[in-house]
Amino acid sequence: MQLTLISKADLTPTVKSYTFEPESELNFEPGQFVMLKQVGAEQKFARAFSIVSEKNSSNIVFIMKHNPEGHVSGFLATAEIGSKIETGSPVGRFVLNPSDTDRVFVATGTGLAPIVSFFNSKNIDTAPHTTLFGVRNEDDIFWADRLPENSLITLSQPSDSWPGLRGRVTAHTEKIISAHPHAAWYLCGNPEMVSEVRAQLIAAGVDKTAIHFEIY
Ligand SMILES: Cc1cc2nc3c(=O)[nH]c(=O)nc-3n(C[C@H](O)[C@H](O)[C@H](O)COP(=O)(O)OP(=O)(O)OC[C@H]3O[C@@H](n4cnc5c(N)ncnc54)[C@H](O)[C@@H]3O)c2cc1C
Repeated sequence: MQLTLISKADLTPTVKSYTFEPESELNFEPGQFVMLKQVGAEQKFARAFSIVSEKNSSNIVFIMKHNPEGHVSGFLATAEIGSKIETGSPVGRFVLNPSDTDRVFVATGTGLAPIVSFFNSKNIDTAPHTTLFGVRNEDDIFWADRLPENSLITLSQPSDSWPGLRGRVTAHTEKIISAHPHAAWYLCGNPEMVSEVRAQLIAAGVDKTAIHFEIY
């Protein structure tokens, strides 16, 4: 299916958001991703991007770490409004388990995408949730206003004046584990973060079936 670019925005110096209108409805579960590629490009140039939009939304939003050389993110950064891109069908198992009684979301960088789709879809109202979002410095923070009020933002390389949490997300997970012993965990972001937090959770006795993750 083709998607038509209808708007784009710079969220930080390195992260951009793109909004598309699909040819026909794209049915997805919040948390899923699609493979995007330039129209007519070979499949090997398709790249995975999580859908940010709410379930049943008529427009499809993505956030992308900008890479000027990237086959998809580089192309879209200079693409005109009205340009088209090809998408595969939504796939992926990083979706909410409706039987969770408590949830912790941990994201780094654009790993926030599927988690914002959960929030947008309002279907997390059934369980309490805590969010831990990690980026490098103040300039890298985006969409803080879309996170629930009790969310934690931690910076690995903050300026001296940053009043909030410091360090990588792994510096804060143990405290959250103690406060949320029965939570289901949803981790999304770079491979190191996912593997380290997962190891922390397993070492703390969190059941592997309660740890869901998407590795970028
Ligand atoms: C399930 C899933 C969901 C994801 N969701 C997101 C998301 O929502 N947002 C997000 O930002 N990222 C996401 N990612 C990560 C994203 O898919 C990758 O970072 C992807 O590479 C981005 O594509 P691109 O167009 O930016 O760059 P690419 O085309 O992958 O290029 C990246 C870099 O590699 C170089 N390169 C490309 N091809 C070659 C080659 N053949 N040889 C040598 N160098 C090469 C390019 O020059 C460039 O510097 C997700 C990953 C997964 C697995």
